[in-house]
Amino acid sequence: MYQAKKRGGNGFCFFDPHQDDPFEERLFLENDLRQAIDRQELLLHYQPQIDLASGRVVGVESLVRWQHGQRGLMAPEDFIPLAEDTGLIVPIGEWVLRSACLQGRRWQQAGQPPVSMAVNISPWQLRQSGFVEKVEGIIAETGIDPRLLELEVTETAVMDNVQEAVRILSRLRNRGVAVAMDDFGTGYSSLGSLQSLPLSKLKIDRSFVRDVTSNPNDAALTSSIIALGCALGLNVIAEGVETPEQLSFLQQKNCAQVQGYLFSRPLPAAEVEPLLRHSFAGSAKIPVAPA
Ligand code: C2E
Ligand code: MG
Ligand code: MG
Repeated sequence: MYQAKKRGGNGFCFFDPHQDDPFEERLFLENDLRQAIDRQELLLHYQPQIDLASGRVVGVESLVRWQHGQRGLMAPEDFIPLAEDTGLIVPIGEWVLRSACLQGRRWQQAGQPPVSMAVNISPWQLRQSGFVEKVEGIIAETGIDPRLLELEVTETAVMDNVQEAVRILSRLRNRGVAVAMDDFGTGYSSLGSLQSLPLSKLKIDRSFVRDVTSNPNDAALTSSIIALGCALGLNVIAEGVETPEQLSFLQQKNCAQVQGYLFSRPLPAAEVEPLLRHSFAGSAKIPVAPA
């Protein structure tokens, strides 16, 4: 039935127990994902964020991966949509938040330079009643300095119900937590609402950054977002920076921060640590990784 519907409906399909059924495949994956937390198969990688004025790593974004028994290391795009569809994103998101805060606290205790820890928050999590209490509980439990925690929310999640988002995010901002608008420019932000939101940062989506040096429209959009962010007193970060040309465009436009493969891919905690230390040692700027 699902196959027939997928092909546009008003048709039929024959059942064949031997066919590779994507529906069945999804059920297996969902079942595995339900157990992924208990089996300790989820892990986080951290991608540095660089402040262009100082050349230092000022933050990291935590990005979840799934070490699947048979399929190997899976990227979020292969399981986050399923997690969103099934509601599993709520326990997974909570695991991510707790683990990222624990890591942040560990770095603080180990005397690492203070860097902010960005955590992606799904629209589902934001809409859960008790979300603020959950975040407060995790901050208390892990001992992370809330001023080092940054939650990344998406335009759609926030614009769906602006008043509610303002209420929730303001409570978090009052606790010292920073709030970034992720993938900015890809959703439908109402510019009027943008100024009422208690944001600290705009993240320019990597789809604009990709062609910023070849596509005049992307160049215009990127400069406008930087100007808009500055006018609203927000920090602006460009993600997906891969080439020195993209970097110099962003520098010319006074973009404050960058994140991308040009500097570093997302890495396991142990591999990010030397980058954090190196970045703060003396005035040396972080070395640019070969593209
Ligand atoms: P995002 O939050 O926009 O994360 C940035 C993505 O861009 C990451 O992909 C990162 O690896 C990738 N990226 C960074 N620099 C570059 C670059 O220079 N070039 C290119 N081509 N890509 C770059 P990743 O890790 O595959 O994550 C994809 C998306 O999955 C994230 O997009 C986010 O929406 C979602 N995601 C990841 N972790 C979580 C999580 O813990 N919770 C939730 N709700 N979503 C998550
Ligand atoms: Mg993000
Ligand atoms: Mg993004």
